Amino acid sequence: MSRDAEVLEKLKAIVDPDLGNDIVSLGFVKNLKCDDAGNVAFGIELTTPACPVKEQFRAAADKLVRQLPWVKNVSITMSAQARGAPLTAGPGLKGVENIIAVSSCKGGVGKSTTAVNLAYSLQKFGGRVGIFDADVYGPSLPTLVSPADRQVYQNPDGSIHPLEFHDAKLMSFGFVTANQGGGPAIMRGPMVTQVINQLLTTTDWGDLDYLVIDFPPGTGDIQLTLTQLIPITAAVIVTTPQQLSFVDVVKGIQMFDKLKVPVVSVVENMSYFECGKCHEKHHLFGQGARKKLVEQFGIQNSFEIPIIPEISHLSDAGTPVALVGGDIAKHYEAIAESVVREVSRIKFGGLARPKISYASGLGVVVNTADGKVSVIKAAELRRRCRCASCIDEFSGKQILAPESVAESVFPKTIQPMGNYAVAIAWSDGHASSIYPYDAILKLVSEIGVAAQAPA
Ligand code: ADP
Repeated sequence: MSRDAEVLEKLKAIVDPDLGNDIVSLGFVKNLKCDDAGNVAFGIELTTPACPVKEQFRAAADKLVRQLPWVKNVSITMSAQARGAPLTAGPGLKGVENIIAVSSCKGGVGKSTTAVNLAYSLQKFGGRVGIFDADVYGPSLPTLVSPADRQVYQNPDGSIHPLEFHDAKLMSFGFVTANQGGGPAIMRGPMVTQVINQLLTTTDWGDLDYLVIDFPPGTGDIQLTLTQLIPITAAVIVTTPQQLSFVDVVKGIQMFDKLKVPVVSVVENMSYFECGKCHEKHHLFGQGARKKLVEQFGIQNSFEIPIIPEISHLSDAGTPVALVGGDIAKHYEAIAESVVREVSRIKFGGLARPKISYASGLGVVVNTADGKVSVIKAAELRRRCRCASCIDEFSGKQILAPESVAESVFPKTIQPMGNYAVAIAWSDGHASSIYPYDAILKLVSEIGVAAQAPA
């Protein structure tokens, strides 16, 4: 075996956890050079400069290659080559690799605070970031950051020069209206979306790995139109823990789903308060929504951020907590890590989702990524619906009487719900059963029957 081949064989032990394959097969190892003196040099080219496991990869590669008896020196260059489709909606966005929408159904839940801290956490991981405040009626970016120069300039080519704070590019209607003598923007629906889109696309963002958009709150026409106009890579939904907010999260997922934007993380903000004296966590508004999200939608990335007075004090002073670091910042770093991972999976095809369809006379057909085909009886799947009218959400007991489901029931529509689940509307009038892919795969192993792919 040549020395090159020996090194590659060693490096095959490093598996990208998100893409589910080793770094050699994924083509991440570049410019490998080995000489007779025992020097080995190569590059590892990742999918994003903000890769949270960058340093682990480097350390593992160094250790593995040094296990070869002839190796004296190892030199590894870490780089990132974003290989996604470029965004094309407007000149200002041509150098922007990923757009992350941060959205909420209501105002005041901490959406803007999350958006800004998410952006600075992505920057901490090595990404070039921008923040666009799309909230025309209540722009908060001017309060959350404190750039030295708040003047909005126009470039000679007509584009708008973004403001900067700690190397993040910024734009908000708050900056524009302040420049024009202040006062809130008075606009109505259709005009709002046009104006937002215009400010977004005429801002000269330059080359960015992540542009975080602080969406206007709600799931109405303005938000839906914006989701259509802006090529959003992924969305993060911010909510609060009250029971009613769960309904909001569902609305948010459905809105982004309509336009095939995957919701990659849900943030439950102001989730609890930790007493400074006894360190007990007080869940003032109850618990349980996160569990429901995993069970019903298969959304694995859900985060709790407690009520922390420093978050509010620092935000009011124009200093995002993510820039200060420490334990509080870790909450936002965890969200950023999930975003980096999921975006990588979305763009580089690591999501091994099963394909689910219905074949009359056969049942619900599940095609898994490994090429296997299985069938689950439609009535059995219907009986396992976990929605609030079929399962008591507090006790977990089944409300639906299994014998009330006719054997002849069949899916009328099967639609993906975000990245992790499908929604099925049934012939018995039950409008929406949501099954996470994980749950379907478990059912395949329990009650599935191997089958030939239907013609
Ligand atoms: P939204 O964008 O949803 O309207 P903001 O991000 O402006 O909400 O937050 C509303 C208020 O709540 C702000 O004063 C902010 O500083 C505060 N806040 C947000 N998250 C937290 C938190 N986890 N702990 C304490 N205060 C918070």
